Amino acid sequence: MTTQAVIEGRTGSWEMVIGLEVHAQVISESKLFSGASTRFGAEPNTQVSLVDAAMPGMLPVINRYCVEQAVKTGLGLNAKINRRSVFDRKNYFYADLPQGYQISQYSQPIVGEGTIILDMPDGSTREVGITRLHLEQDAGKSLHDQDPKRSFIDLNRTGVALMEVVSEPDLRGPEDAAAYLRKLRSILRYLGTCDGNMEEGSMRCDVNVSVRPLGTTEFGTRAEVKNVNSIRAVQLAIEFEAARQVEILEDGGSIVQETRLWDPGKGATRSMRGKEEAHDYRYFPDPDLLPLDLEVDFIETIRATLPELPDPKKLRFIENYGLSVYDAGVLVAEASRADFYERVAEGRDPKQAANWLITELLGALNKGGHDIQDSPISADQLGGLLDLMADDTISGRIAKDVFAEMLETGKDAGTIVEEKGLKQVTDTGAIESVVDEVLANNADKVEQYRGGKDKLFGFFVGQVMKASQGKANPAMVNDILKKKL
Ligand code: ADP
Ligand code: MG
Repeated sequence: MTTQAVIEGRTGSWEMVIGLEVHAQVISESKLFSGASTRFGAEPNTQVSLVDAAMPGMLPVINRYCVEQAVKTGLGLNAKINRRSVFDRKNYFYADLPQGYQISQYSQPIVGEGTIILDMPDGSTREVGITRLHLEQDAGKSLHDQDPKRSFIDLNRTGVALMEVVSEPDLRGPEDAAAYLRKLRSILRYLGTCDGNMEEGSMRCDVNVSVRPLGTTEFGTRAEVKNVNSIRAVQLAIEFEAARQVEILEDGGSIVQETRLWDPGKGATRSMRGKEEAHDYRYFPDPDLLPLDLEVDFIETIRATLPELPDPKKLRFIENYGLSVYDAGVLVAEASRADFYERVAEGRDPKQAANWLITELLGALNKGGHDIQDSPISADQLGGLLDLMADDTISGRIAKDVFAEMLETGKDAGTIVEEKGLKQVTDTGAIESVVDEVLANNADKVEQYRGGKDKLFGFFVGQVMKASQGKANPAMVNDILKKKL
């Protein structure tokens, strides 16, 4: 989509300023402070421990694995890991929150400042600051669509660990925000700390938007937009919200700091609560939990398990395989794609491998909304197809047909070539006789060609290829034609 980062108003140009708060559900078998399962899609209220239900006298016990996951994420974001952090109670009343408070981290989060490098569609990169990452519990879910008169509560999600990742207000438009979310999701998936699935709600996002006259440095008053559940929705919400603010400011009004709700049906934001109604959460350290003190060894052990992340992998792909910045970016976006690529490229022409993988295979998969995990063609099979081209068994043109057949049947390239008799003709005599036939059938064109109409050469090549059903070796056809004409 083409989205404008600068808004041309009636009185001048305006710049958008955006900061994102992302809630990422931690991949963990059990919840942040209880042993209950986190499995998605279970029967309502079947994964609720006495701690999650806030039965009197129950005490939270920190899940060590969730702490490891948060530290791992912090390291992946090149962020400062705070050796000491504190869990606070954030107090509010809601039916899906049995405790009457959410355990979160307020003034002392587990992870401090870090950075994310955005890969922009034009191949350029930009650095965006991460303010903090903290651990907190998720709330339950209210079900309003089960009964006309009553609402139900499902506590399965209550107490599941979330990482809230807060960005600096460094983003300048919808494209930036999209690039930020794509990159954050990619890093989380590489690390295995969050599945990044926005549709299932395991990655949720609040969008803070303000505008200011282009060229000024002071921040404008922001609105926080909630309920934005896809990258596309984030882009649309930013566009709508920034335009709304510009209109108010140009009419001489002022922006009120408030929380707004994105309405995907209307494509608009609407006020949810203003600053005056803002909650006073009365944060205080949870007396049931000690401060979290991390040993240096604990952090270093986790650091040693970090995989190669997208940024260094991208550099390596550019340097070792000679790929363009764009191609390398596409391949490293998902770890499974990068692995697939490396298996195809091993011992083969790396650029050709990238072309076939990106343009043909990913292109075809994309049409059905699939990614490489669902590929009916394995890395070895795609490699096998490239090998048949490399040793001149088939031409690039035939290879496309073979590829289409592979997609459909999942068969090996070699089998298809064998079954359909697609082997390239490299026998000089055989090609010569086809050439002779074509020249004999087109005596008039031969005349014109010899009279100086050079452009006809392509016509002859086409005729020979057609007569050989695409199987003649194109280089040999060229040579023989040149000789005979
Ligand atoms: P709060 O605690 O009220 O949510 P924070 O200071 O934590 O406020 O900021 C929340 C988010 O708002 C951050 O992502 C930050 O980058 C962003 N933000 C802060 N000021 C602005 C602004 N003027 N315009 C846009 N975003 C902003
Ligand atoms: Mg906040």
